[in-house]
Amino acid sequence: MGTRIIDGKTIAADLRGKVTDAVHRLRRDRGIVPGIAVVLVGVDPASEVYVRNKSKAVAESGMRAFDCKLAASTSEAELIALIAKLNADEEVSGILVQLVNAGRLASGLSALVPCTPMGCVILAKTVHETLAGLEAVVIGRSNIVGKPVARLLLSENATVTITHSRTNDLPSVCRRADLVIAAIGRPEMVRGDWIKPGATIIDVGINRVPGEGGKARIVGDVAYAEAMQVAGAVTPVPGGVGPMTIACLLLNTLRASCAQKGLPAPKV
Ligand code: NAP
Repeated sequence: MGTRIIDGKTIAADLRGKVTDAVHRLRRDRGIVPGIAVVLVGVDPASEVYVRNKSKAVAESGMRAFDCKLAASTSEAELIALIAKLNADEEVSGILVQLVNAGRLASGLSALVPCTPMGCVILAKTVHETLAGLEAVVIGRSNIVGKPVARLLLSENATVTITHSRTNDLPSVCRRADLVIAAIGRPEMVRGDWIKPGATIIDVGINRVPGEGGKARIVGDVAYAEAMQVAGAVTPVPGGVGPMTIACLLLNTLRASCAQKGLPAPKV
């Protein structure tokens, strides 16, 4: 059997459809419309594109999007005051802070699972009915992806190894894995011969490299063509983890809205 391509676009579209249905039911039955405030500090073209895409996705799901653009000169105190105001706003269920050190702010907000790690686990579960007992290797230990994804995998009862730039003989460690989560930010670093035959590869990386005719091309952290020769299943970049991040943001907003109104978690 050939290597399966884990089609994040389709899986994300399916999840977004379910969230949209749940949002419509919530509005119809309870008159509640979940809302997310997206806070963007400073001007960064990449972040602006993300924020635009996210706001569009929120609107398409029937939720409300509140965009808050702040100047780069905004002080931490001003930002915290804005977050406090949004927190107190009944119509705001979730707050996404783009482009600031969100660690402390975000950690106090709620016990919602971060979007990208949640997307990785959902994608892995489209291949494996359960992750229990699997040998999982996470490459990268950032607070945004590596650490939270490792925690999630552990709660799914996988045997988890977190690797990083100081790991000795990373290819050998990687070759043990039934499931590899690559969150490194190094174009195509994970080669085909690092992969155990039949393993599942979730590629979080988004790297811009020079392409044909001087145009930039996006590649992941995994050498995709090589992985396709060895792995059991691989996420493409783009079209893998990326679309799942947005779908999970919508799901989190819906969940937060229900929790805020004292309702049980929505069935999605
Ligand atoms: P990050 O904060 O830069 O962390 C990168 C991690 O990779 C670090 O822990 C680093 O180790 C490790 N690393 C770097 N070089 C290495 C090497 N040669 N060997 C082994 N480990 C190495 O990056 P991040 O925020 O986690 O993001 C990782 C990638 O995911 C980026 O490409 C980013 O664009 C992408 N991303 C995608 C999404 C999405 O929605 N698809 C969301 C978030 C991030 P040390 O700790 O030892 O330095």
